[in-house]
Amino acid sequence: MNTTENLSLNLATVRAQWDMRQAVEACLAHGITAISPWRDQVQKIGLAEAEKLVRDNGLRVTGLCRGGMFPAADAAGRKAAVEDNKRAIEEAARLHADCLVMVVGGLPAGSRDIRSVREMVAEGMRQILDDSRAAGVKLAVEPLHPMYAADRACVNTLEQALDLCELLGPDVGVAIDAYHVWWDPKLAGQIARAGAGHRIFAHHICDWLVPTRELLMDRGMMGDGVVDLKGLRRAIEQAGYHGPQEVEILSSHWGSRPGEEMLRTVIERYNSVCLP
Ligand code: ZN
Repeated sequence: MNTTENLSLNLATVRAQWDMRQAVEACLAHGITAISPWRDQVQKIGLAEAEKLVRDNGLRVTGLCRGGMFPAADAAGRKAAVEDNKRAIEEAARLHADCLVMVVGGLPAGSRDIRSVREMVAEGMRQILDDSRAAGVKLAVEPLHPMYAADRACVNTLEQALDLCELLGPDVGVAIDAYHVWWDPKLAGQIARAGAGHRIFAHHICDWLVPTRELLMDRGMMGDGVVDLKGLRRAIEQAGYHGPQEVEILSSHWGSRPGEEMLRTVIERYNSVCLP
């Protein structure tokens, strides 16, 4: 008998098939009681409605995706990003999300200065900390695979993310996504470091396909690629994080399959290749 205990579904996984309400209904029908919605999915049904959906069904929200995207070419752009992050914090608080996932942003158009862009990220984070702490919302910096350094996130390793967290202080941690960090030779040590600092706020899973045909929408179903998901989970649990594994599969292939098929496969693979 397959378990759905401690399994969360990142709703980007079923974005093509279902809206938030439909996704929740499908999850509940399969015994999944944890989700992680994206802000646009929440906005589509309305924040009040999303909040009610979460509350009435006793759902755990393992994260709200996403804040971040701090760098901009000018001060007005950076200010707008900070304001938008403050709205995201309010939304995360309303949904009682375990964390607000931070995809920090890449180079603004025309920039070749990744060092200053990384400083913009630290500064942007600093400017929302009072709000996040007041709202009781934890910020989870998600290091992204270096192939996204230019356009999505200039924080690319767990080590770099933890350096940033330590600079910022408490209530800032990391989302460890198998897809982004599996290749890192320093991974084991950095997971232990994150655990020791109580900074693991989320654990995302999918798989790295060989070959990967497209940078954004070719993530694999767990078990179809090369990531040692059981080993990763073992390390994360040893570091003290026992929260849900959150399935996040951005994939044109899976987006073209029926949602039910996708969900059944997710549950089967969670059991066969993800539980240590
Ligand atoms: Zn992720």
